[in-house]
Amino acid sequence: MIKDNLSALLQSIPDSATLVAVSKTKPVESLLEAYEAGQRHFGENKVQEMADKASALPQNIRWHMIGHLQRNKVKYIAPFVSLIHSVDSIRLLNEIDKQAKKNDRVIDCLLQVRIAEEETKFGLTFDSCEEILNQNNHTHVRIRGLMGMASFTDNQTQVESEFKSLAQYYKQYQDQYEWDTLSMGMSGDYPLALSCGSTMIRVGSRIFGTRN
Ligand SMILES: *Cc1c(COP(=O)(O)O)cnc(C)c1O
Repeated sequence: MIKDNLSALLQSIPDSATLVAVSKTKPVESLLEAYEAGQRHFGENKVQEMADKASALPQNIRWHMIGHLQRNKVKYIAPFVSLIHSVDSIRLLNEIDKQAKKNDRVIDCLLQVRIAEEETKFGLTFDSCEEILNQNNHTHVRIRGLMGMASFTDNQTQVESEFKSLAQYYKQYQDQYEWDTLSMGMSGDYPLALSCGSTMIRVGSRIFGTRN
C-alpha cells in the first residue's frame, strides 16, 4: 500500500527533510493515493509525462523535475514546475531564465553535480559549478542549492564519501549564496544521505513499488 509505505518512510526521516515522491512511470491513480495521504511534492524525469500528470492532478502539487532536461522542452514545464533539480549547463540555465521570464515567474533550480564514479551520470564538476555561480546574472531563476546521485553500488564507504564531498561543497557556499536545499538520497541510500546532511530526498520505488 502506497499510503503505508509513505507513512513508514515519513516516520523514519526528520521533519526538517523534504520528501519528494518520485512517481515516474507510475499512473495518476498512484499519485492520487499518495496525494490523499498528504504528499505534496512529486518528482518526474520526463517533461511530457510531468505535464500530463500536472494537468490531471490537483493544482497544489509541487512538481520537481529530477531528470535530464533538454533546452527545447523547458517551455512545457516553465509555467508550473516548482524546482528543477537537474541543471547541468549554463545554456540550460539561460533557457530556464528566459522561459521563467515569459511566464512572469522565478523558477527555483539546483545545480546537479556529478559525484558518482560512473560515467553515465549527468552533472557538473565542481569547477563548472563555480563558473556558473560566478556568471549567474539571471533575473528569473534562483539557485537554491545542489543535487547529486551517488554511485549505484553496495559499497557504503564509497557512497558515503560521494555524499560527503557534495555536502562539503554545499556547506562551503551555503551562506554566500543563501542556499537551503541539498537534494541527495534515493530509496537505497537515503538514510546515509540524510546522515551526511541531505535536506531533500527523492524516493520512488520504496513508496510506489519497483518500476518495470
Ligand atoms: C528514479 C530517480 C530517483 C528515485 O529512485 P528510487 O530508487 O526508485 O527511489 C531519484 N532520483 C532520480 C534523479 C531518479 O531518476
